[in-house]
Amino acid sequence: MEEIFIQTEDQRAILETVKRFVDEEVRPRAAELDAADKPEDGFSWEIIEKSDEVGLRTLTLAEEYGGLGVDSLTTAMVIEELGKGDLGISVVMAQTLKLVQIFQKATSPAQREKYLTRFRDDPRHLMAIGITEPENASNYFVPHRAKSSFTTFAEKVDGGWVINGMKHFISNGNVSGTYLLFVQTEKGVPLHEGSTCFIIERGMDGFSIGRVHDKMGERLANNAELIFQDCFVPEENLVGEVGKGFEVLAEFFPQSNAYAAASVLGVGVAAYERALEWARTRVQGGKVLIEHDGIAADLAEMHMLCDVSRSYLHRAAWLADHQEHGWDKSLGVLPKVMASQAAWKIVTKTLEIHGGHGYMKEAGIEKLVRDAAAFLHSDGVNRTLFLKASGFLYGV
Ligand SMILES: Cc1cc2nc3c(=O)[nH]c(=O)nc-3n(C[C@H](O)[C@H](O)[C@H](O)COP(=O)(O)OP(=O)(O)OC[C@H]3O[C@@H](n4cnc5c(N)ncnc54)[C@H](O)[C@@H]3O)c2cc1C
Repeated sequence: MEEIFIQTEDQRAILETVKRFVDEEVRPRAAELDAADKPEDGFSWEIIEKSDEVGLRTLTLAEEYGGLGVDSLTTAMVIEELGKGDLGISVVMAQTLKLVQIFQKATSPAQREKYLTRFRDDPRHLMAIGITEPENASNYFVPHRAKSSFTTFAEKVDGGWVINGMKHFISNGNVSGTYLLFVQTEKGVPLHEGSTCFIIERGMDGFSIGRVHDKMGERLANNAELIFQDCFVPEENLVGEVGKGFEVLAEFFPQSNAYAAASVLGVGVAAYERALEWARTRVQGGKVLIEHDGIAADLAEMHMLCDVSRSYLHRAAWLADHQEHGWDKSLGVLPKVMASQAAWKIVTKTLEIHGGHGYMKEAGIEKLVRDAAAFLHSDGVNRTLFLKASGFLYGV
């Protein structure tokens, strides 16, 4: 694959480090971890510790806290690079990198001091965000249509709040040290009017981890249920204002969708590279596959899909940091849809170009197919995201 659109020497140096990390720590272990029976065994603390050693875990942490404080475009490039090695690792890191950025913007100085120094000092400290619950998934992407309330509820008590309920499907749910949690704080109003954001710490009384979901792909990342049974959260852990949880989501999350797009684009690029290599070496019909017109045209289409997805998500990531230059809210919703549809098309074409060989597990193509499927649903089901975008574009 030709070089992505690198603009600065800093970006080049960071991407070279990430490429080395992927080649040395991720690629050699991905197939074995992916094949683990128990979902928990697909997750590797060793890889997380190595990511810390090379400065990746703290890449978006501001320089005043000891990180590199890199911008969203560079972070998106890093996330794609990780996704080329393995989707799960890319997601584990993307969640943490983006939540650190959100923390820096949305929390108070005291909250930052407490939680970001804790994050910096523990090489295993990851972050997670809990919004989805069994009864409310697409509902929070299109809240004006659904008019539903979160069932997880925080009740005001002296000195804080008591939370009851549960979240599910949460990436890094069972392996994080800090969580941003969105729960209902006012009954009888929709979730976009009556929900609030809280900081939750691992090990708080009344907070436990439920099931770790057994996923078809993205297996190097874990997803889990978060269970709250009379969990007391002190007042100082409230983020923003009571009842304004959705403003935290809307104001401080612009780059999240571009990062999701970058993760799944990584899978698309990895598949395209495998298809190209196979087409250049496999001989059928008296010549290498790439000399057959249908295959050559497919490969050019796959190249285009990668390129278009990347341009789109790079524009979104850059504008997320420079909104005065023409940020449009659909950029916070659609790049992931584009990249996941592109990756899905690319992996199915890659499978076809490999013929029966691609269907054999040893080729590793089926892993790419299972991984690519994750992002048709993750970070919002694609159809729901189109609906959300239509709200921004047409006010419907
Ligand atoms: C791998 C993975 C990782 C995830 N990580 C996280 C995480 O870290 N944190 C978190 O909070 N969540 C997370 N999620 C949840 C994710 O963001 C989605 O919201 C969720 O998966 C949607 O799940 P659902 O099955 O309940 O779909 P549903 O909301 O039940 O949707 C089912 C179908 O109905 C359609 N639909 C729904 N509403 C409408 C409507 N109003 N009009 C028309 N069609 C509609 C949808 O488009 C979809 O096709 C993750 C999910 C996955 C799969």
